[in-house]
Amino acid sequence: MPDDKLTSTLTRFRAYLAEKGMRRTPERDIIALKVARMTNLFDVEAVKAAIEADGQHVSLATIYTTLNLLVECGLLRRHRLGNNSAQYEKAAAGAKANHFLTICTQCGKIKEVKDIALIQFMNSLRVGAFKVQYYQLYVHGICNACSRRAKRLEREQAKAQAMEQRRLEREQERLKSKE
Ligand SMILES: [Zn+2]
Repeated sequence: MPDDKLTSTLTRFRAYLAEKGMRRTPERDIIALKVARMTNLFDVEAVKAAIEADGQHVSLATIYTTLNLLVECGLLRRHRLGNNSAQYEKAAAGAKANHFLTICTQCGKIKEVKDIALIQFMNSLRVGAFKVQYYQLYVHGICNACSRRAKRLEREQAKAQAMEQRRLEREQERLKSKE
């Protein structure tokens, strides 16, 4: 990201803090700058990891409250996706704000889907006099990895059951032969 973009993010955030009578702190600056460099969706943990990768440290609580301030001042958008922790993204306008996401209800994995036909359909959508700014579609279900894991478990259970069944049959035959 060009430096002027980073500067404008910081300027806007500082102006917001001043307006609200809140203190400007080095931690808040670090977080705002880090967030300005993030791409796609990210959560509190991801911001913490990115800050720590620079050898800096900011508490999760500070990151959390700062992200909320960034949402309030319009620099970030927050998503609440099922039971997962809140996800954030930079508040871009237009096509960049459009999302079609699949969310796994088991492991919480979020994936962006690029469906040309759907994008074309959504772009052509007219909702009366309502002026569409952006859309976000959340599709909840079971991801590939989780359904493979479930199938494997099922197979293992079936196998264990079959073995137990054979053991019981052999046991019965043995008892019969003793009679
Ligand atoms: Zn999953």
